[in-house]
Amino acid sequence: MSGTILITGCNRGIGLEACAQFAKAGWRVLACCRAPDKAVKLKGLQERFPRIEPLHLDVTNYEQMISLGRALKGEPIDILLNNAAYYGPKGKGFGAVDRGEWRRVLESNTIAPYMLAETFYENVAASEYKIIAFISSKVGSIADNRSGGGYIYRTSKTAVNQVVKSLSIDLSERGISVIAMHPGWVKTDMGGPGALISAEESVKGLKRLLLTEKLTKTGHFYCYDGTEIPW
Ligand code: NDP
Repeated sequence: MSGTILITGCNRGIGLEACAQFAKAGWRVLACCRAPDKAVKLKGLQERFPRIEPLHLDVTNYEQMISLGRALKGEPIDILLNNAAYYGPKGKGFGAVDRGEWRRVLESNTIAPYMLAETFYENVAASEYKIIAFISSKVGSIADNRSGGGYIYRTSKTAVNQVVKSLSIDLSERGISVIAMHPGWVKTDMGGPGALISAEESVKGLKRLLLTEKLTKTGHFYCYDGTEIPW
């Protein structure tokens, strides 16, 4: 089975790998990134897989988002994959939190993914798979927090988890499944070289999860290996 997937943050990391794996499986990939002209790796992939369509989108630029929404009006989108995110400053714990950076992280990791869902849910409702997925993080799980700290990034992912839960309820009558996914600790610019798994392994798991997801599983938080994570 194949369809259409829209992915944000596609020029590197997990987003780029997701483009590669879905394109290889025959999917049409609407590959959003901040600067498509400079997205060399994505362009290289597009040469091999012409069903990849690089699109210009900074997820915090709502004018850009609205005009993309207009351009794609009426086109079914089977999976909307909210991947783009910003970690914020590293190593700034209790007593040294930067409020401006905190707002910036909340904008890109919480508010923007919500706005994407608002902009594209009709496209998703018109599709076959009907999935809106958010790449969250296990560090956003309150139940899993045993080490403290990480105020900025953790809260942005905890908040997006709540967005997932509410959307899963609000969009259930349109037949849309909404899930949060933890990609594992992944070797990307964000995860760093000491991370445990490759982007390839992570995306293999995420893709399996997405393609076996059913409406009965909406409103839950999953690890890339298919296990459920407590909120
Ligand atoms: P990277 O830092 O490697 O890549 C982040 C991507 O998001 C880049 O393509 C970046 O674009 C894009 N991005 C950031 N801000 C914006 C924006 N405002 N508009 C559009 N694109 C934007 O991260 P990963 O690939 O590792 O992370 C992908 C997802 O997985 C994120 O949601 C992250 O929080 C999550 N995650 C990652 C983990 C890991 O171990 N790597 C662990 C848990 C969760 P640009 O190149 O232009 O900056």
